[in-house]
Amino acid sequence: MEVNRRSFLKGGAIAATAMPMAGFAAAKEPENDGKAQYETDVLVVGGGPAGVCAAIAAARNGAKVLVVEQSGMLGGMATQGLVGPFMTCYDKAGEKMIIRGLFEEIVNRLVARGGALHPKGVFGNGPYSAWIPKGHDHVTPFDPEELKVLLDEMCAEAGVKVLLHTTFIDPVVEDGRASGARIFGKDGFSRVAAKIVVDATGDGDYAFRAGVPCVLGDGNGRLMPATMFFRVCNVDSEKLIADIEANKHTFHKKDGVSYRGFHWYVTKAIEAGEWDLPRRCLNMYRGVGKDVWLVNNGRIPNVDATNTESLSHAEVEGRHQTKVMMDFLRKYVPGCKDAILMCTGSTVGIRETRHVSGEAMLKVDDVMNGVVPEDSVFLAANSVDVHGGKNNPMVSSYQTINANWYGVSYRCLVAKGVENLLLAGRCLSGEPAAAGAVRVMPPCMAMGQAAGTAAALCLKVGTTPRALEGKMLVKTLAAQGAFLG
Ligand SMILES: Cc1cc2nc3c(=O)[nH]c(=O)nc-3n(C[C@H](O)[C@H](O)[C@H](O)COP(=O)(O)OP(=O)(O)OC[C@H]3O[C@@H](n4cnc5c(N)ncnc54)[C@H](O)[C@@H]3O)c2cc1C
Repeated sequence: MEVNRRSFLKGGAIAATAMPMAGFAAAKEPENDGKAQYETDVLVVGGGPAGVCAAIAAARNGAKVLVVEQSGMLGGMATQGLVGPFMTCYDKAGEKMIIRGLFEEIVNRLVARGGALHPKGVFGNGPYSAWIPKGHDHVTPFDPEELKVLLDEMCAEAGVKVLLHTTFIDPVVEDGRASGARIFGKDGFSRVAAKIVVDATGDGDYAFRAGVPCVLGDGNGRLMPATMFFRVCNVDSEKLIADIEANKHTFHKKDGVSYRGFHWYVTKAIEAGEWDLPRRCLNMYRGVGKDVWLVNNGRIPNVDATNTESLSHAEVEGRHQTKVMMDFLRKYVPGCKDAILMCTGSTVGIRETRHVSGEAMLKVDDVMNGVVPEDSVFLAANSVDVHGGKNNPMVSSYQTINANWYGVSYRCLVAKGVENLLLAGRCLSGEPAAAGAVRVMPPCMAMGQAAGTAAALCLKVGTTPRALEGKMLVKTLAAQGAFLG
């Protein structure tokens, strides 16, 4: 199903934001004197892994940059969502780090301050990868609190202006060109005037509202399930690891259901009426710190995170699932008797919403077969990872690629039909399954670096993202630390 601005307006979302409730004073609209409250070269909408890297890259390449982020922190799913570890940044052979540039800098700076383990020493089939063998070598466990601070510091060093607690409301599109946005914060509505906009909202909010065609989920209304991440501490890690190691030979898949970590206890909990969750196991990733673990196990099907009611349901269900899993851990799992719930994500984890149309579309066959377009702005070997599950009409599929890596064309980041609009991160232009490969954080950061660098280059040479020569961008990225083969 293609969604467009007309169906969005029909749904009343804009009308609802503009209409004050009876008895409440309306938030102040900006004075209509034609002046914007903020003027910038590059406006980055969304401060997640993609948006932060876009902002830093654009600023380091000489642009004046403003980021608007609806939450109180940078990092998106990595910090608000507690998602981790960073999925692999290596080639399929596991020999070479291929996602480098800003991602590598972030990893190295985190490692230096004790906030991450370097991926060179982390392997699949072990505690840092929830004992998943395929495609999970060289993931990067990190501490989200260190990441929050580091991203603040890196933006400040680069001279990026960051507005937190600021929601993008509406695009300003003049003569078919993205030229700013209406935003909303504690001080009411404001306007931003910008020369180039990068949509890094994950959901493609800017592109969608600017009228760029988008596809929701798989195009038939089906979306990957949401998951509430949570972090646990005070775990006796040695006992927990010993139990998994003694039982991992029993991991299996039956009737499309995966029986992995602790399925031997989940069965008992089901019999005791203490487990009503879709999954029949509990996947835990070891975190940074000897007693810290991350749980990526909940499954909330049929969530459309572009719909406020649906998203609200997901948050509540995610917390319910967390409570069931915490009770289970303390009662059944060795080493977890005194486990403490450190926190749930301040937002539920959303794997998929809109795929925005761009000048090119990343194809799943090209990902699987290692196609590297001439204007590739990064290389990756991340597997095609589409989540479904027993209660979800989508079929789960995890396919490692048939080559050592694939490339992603710059043109997948150039929005169709609206000038001066770049895409970065989860909302790139790609077939849903192809996006299922590059939606993980290292590729999203590489996309951000590419989009931000492209924006700054356009301003330097006086061209538009659509007209920018891919060759020039690729050369600049390579000179600035990206690995491009
Ligand atoms: C359950 C789950 C498990 C995952 N597991 C892994 C994993 O193990 N490893 C891995 O590497 N990746 C994993 N991923 C994928 C990864 O976390 C995301 O796909 C990735 O963070 C996307 O980056 P992004 O910058 O495009 O979007 P996001 O991280 O979603 O960031 C978007 C940012 O934009 C902001 N924003 C959105 N709309 C607006 C608006 N209107 N106005 C202002 N700000 C806005 C948001 O607040 C957010 O900060 C997982 C994802 C989920 C949900």
